[in-house]
Amino acid sequence: MSRRRQIYEGKAKILYEGPEPGTIIQYFKDDATAFNAEKKGTINGKGVINNRISEYIFTRLGHIGMPTHFIRRLNMREQLVRQVEIVPIEVIVRNVAAGSICKRLGLTEGDPLPHTLIEYCLKDDALGDPLVAEEHIACFNWASNEEMQDISSMAIRTNDFLCGMFAAIDIRLVDFKLEFGRIYDGDYSRIILADEISPDGCRLWDMKTGEKLDKDRFRRDLGGEEEAYQEVARRLGLLNNEDDKPGEVFDLNAHRGKLRGDKSKPKK
Ligand code: C5P
Repeated sequence: MSRRRQIYEGKAKILYEGPEPGTIIQYFKDDATAFNAEKKGTINGKGVINNRISEYIFTRLGHIGMPTHFIRRLNMREQLVRQVEIVPIEVIVRNVAAGSICKRLGLTEGDPLPHTLIEYCLKDDALGDPLVAEEHIACFNWASNEEMQDISSMAIRTNDFLCGMFAAIDIRLVDFKLEFGRIYDGDYSRIILADEISPDGCRLWDMKTGEKLDKDRFRRDLGGEEEAYQEVARRLGLLNNEDDKPGEVFDLNAHRGKLRGDKSKPKK
């Protein structure tokens, strides 16, 4: 078997050259990082769950006409996507105050925002992904004004869709991060949604209990991160056994580890 060419290794994913020109394979790792990679760890089975959740969300967004890079899931940890030129901006959509905005503006976590806020951060690990204004984006030509219009309207549309989708399964979509990319057709380029949408890049709170079902469990040492990610997948209907045992997304390694470590034995 010929070795695939690795294009890039990020904190949570590895990108390989795809089978056809213009395609990429996204491999989802179990590695977890927080606070600009100052905190590192592993969430067993995370890659498998995120691959599945992201497939589901991108597919559903595709059904409402959102252009995305997603082509198809290949296996438990990999999906085939279109190769894009990533816009070097992280787009943060916030519905409820949480995380960095609370620190920055002295808000109380959980306070609803007067209206949905979009923030932009420059994708630059060395600088700690600083918050930037649209004026910076235009000034340094990270994206054109036209592209920013497409990006902001796609971000709002994605938020509207995801708020409803999660509300239907009793989850509050507090905030999330999106990334966008350019695809070229001759001299023209257009913007499509890229990267992933999963509990790694969203804040998801149980509507009734306020329980966190996302990466904040890892960031804040709350424990139960594997279970939280699985709960999101279960509520989305992605775990197919009635007694909550993971079906297709079942991670054998995590299962073996659990049996060995006996931390929380899977239910019989
Ligand atoms: O840290 P902060 O509160 O700004 O994060 C806002 C949202 O964006 C959170 O859901 C977080 O998971 C996501 N995010 C991300 N990757 C980053 C920064 C933020 O997924 N580099």
